[in-house]
Amino acid sequence: MQRREFLRLIGAGAALAGGLPVGSAFAGAAPHVVVVGGGAGGATAAKYLKLADPGLRVTVIEKNPVYIRPYGSSEVLNDHIGMEDLEVGYDALRDRYGIEFLFDTVTGVDPEQRVVQTAGGTRLPYDRMIVSPGIELLYDRIDGYSETLAETRLPSAWIPGGQTRLLRDQLHAMRPGGTFLIVAPPNPYRCPPGPYERGALMAEWFQTHNPTAKVIILDSKDSFVPGPSMLLGWNRLYGYNVPEHFREGMPLDGDWPLREHDGPGMIDWVPGYDGGRVLALDANGGAVEAEAGHFEADVINIVPPMVAGRVAFEMDLVDGSGYCPIDRRTHESTRHPGIHVIGDACQADTMPKSGYSANTQAKVAARAVVDLLAGRETEEPFWENTCYALAGQEYGLYVADVFRLVDDRIRRMDGPRFLPLDASRAQIRLGALYQNHWMQTFTKDCFA
Ligand SMILES: Cc1cc2nc3c(=O)[nH]c(=O)nc-3n(C[C@H](O)[C@H](O)[C@H](O)COP(=O)(O)OP(=O)(O)OC[C@H]3O[C@@H](n4cnc5c(N)ncnc54)[C@H](O)[C@@H]3O)c2cc1C
Repeated sequence: MQRREFLRLIGAGAALAGGLPVGSAFAGAAPHVVVVGGGAGGATAAKYLKLADPGLRVTVIEKNPVYIRPYGSSEVLNDHIGMEDLEVGYDALRDRYGIEFLFDTVTGVDPEQRVVQTAGGTRLPYDRMIVSPGIELLYDRIDGYSETLAETRLPSAWIPGGQTRLLRDQLHAMRPGGTFLIVAPPNPYRCPPGPYERGALMAEWFQTHNPTAKVIILDSKDSFVPGPSMLLGWNRLYGYNVPEHFREGMPLDGDWPLREHDGPGMIDWVPGYDGGRVLALDANGGAVEAEAGHFEADVINIVPPMVAGRVAFEMDLVDGSGYCPIDRRTHESTRHPGIHVIGDACQADTMPKSGYSANTQAKVAARAVVDLLAGRETEEPFWENTCYALAGQEYGLYVADVFRLVDDRIRRMDGPRFLPLDASRAQIRLGALYQNHWMQTFTKDCFA
C-alpha cells in the first residue's frame, strides 16, 4: 500500500471516529475540503492540500472565473504592464492537480451540518473548509465618499478591476501641473507599502509625461513600512526632503548620499503628526479636508479603511476587530471549528496583509488540515513574508521576515529586515529585479 493511500485510510478512520455529522462528505468517500476564494491564499491552499494528499477531494468556490491579482496592480497605472497582465486563470490547478472549481458566490455556512451555501443555490457539504476571501473596503467610513463614487469618479483601485482602469485614465489625462492626491488607509490594511509605492511610481511617470505635476499622500499614520528606505528613494528620485527623525542611518556622503533640496519636491507625504488625517471628502469640489487643512486635487485616490471580506461576516467568522480570530497553530477559526481562515481576512498579529503572507499561511493551514483529517498531531508552524516595493521602476526595496509562534501569538523573529540604507546602486537595481521575478514565481507557486 502506498503511503498516501495509507494516510487517506487512517485519515477517514480518524475522522469517522471523531464523530463528524451524518451526511458529511466522509460517508465512504474521500475527505472533502472546500476552499472559499481562489485568490493568492485560497489557490495556494487548494494546490498544497492536493500536493500533501492527492487523495483528498478539494473544491474551490470562487466568484470570478479569472483572478485579477491585486499585487503589482499599481504598475498598470504607469503603463508598465497592462490590465490583461493581472489576469490569472485556474486551468493549471484544475488540470494538474484535479482541483474542482465552482464559480459562484458563497453566501453563508451551516457550521453544525458543515454545509456551505452559494448564491446560485448550491449546498456543498465539507469536512473541513479553508476561507480566504480577502478584504472589504469601507468606503462609507470617509465622510462624503461612497462605493458609487469609487466606481464612477473617485476610484480607490485597491481591489483591482474597473476602478484600476478608471484611475489610470484619469492620471494619464491629468492637466499639466495637476495634483494627484492619495489618501492612505489606517492600520491594519492590505499591502503596507502599497499607497507609498503607488505615489512613487506615478511621480516617476509624471517626470516624463507631466513634469510639473505633484503627488500628495495624506496619512493618519505617523510612519509606514518600509518607511526610511522609501523616503530615501523619494529623496533621491523626486526631490523629497526627509524629515529629521527619519534620517538615522541614511548615507550623508559617498556614491548616492541623502540630499537637501531647496524646493518641496514632487512628492509631499503628510503624516498624522502633521495633520494628515482626513476628515471629509468634497467630491464635487475635488477636494479633501484634512486636519492640516483643505487640499484640492485633480485626481483623488482614496484607499479606505478595510475589514475582512463580506462573506467572512456572513459566515460569522469575524469579531469586533473586523477580522477573523484564529488558532494560530492551525488557522482554525476560534468561532467555528472545522473552518480555517487565512490571508488578509485573518488576525495574524505581526504578519502584514500581503499576498506572500496569504501564500505562506495557506501552506500552514493546508498542512494542518491534512494532519487533522488524518488524526495526526499538527506540526509547529512558521511563516515568512517579503514585501517588495518600488520607489521607482528600477529602484527596489524590501522588508523580509520570519515569524514563529510565541505564547500562542505570531511573532516576528529578530534580524535584519530591510534593504540597507547604504545599499549600492547595483543592490537597489537588483531589488527591483527581485520584485519582478518574485511576482512571476509567486504567481506560479499560487496558481500553477
Ligand atoms: C496595489 C497593491 C499592491 C500589492 N502588492 C503586493 C506585493 O507586492 N506583494 C504582496 O505580497 N502582496 C501585495 N498586495 C496584497 C495582496 O494582493 C493581498 O494581500 C492578497 O491578494 C491577499 O490574498 P487573499 O487570498 O487574502 O485575498 P485575494 O487575493 O483578494 O482573494 C480573495 C478571493 O476571494 C474571492 N471571494 C471573495 N468573496 C467571495 C465569495 N463570497 N464567494 C466566492 N469567492 C469570493 C474573490 O473573488 C477573490 O478571488 C498588494 C495589494 C495591492 C492592492
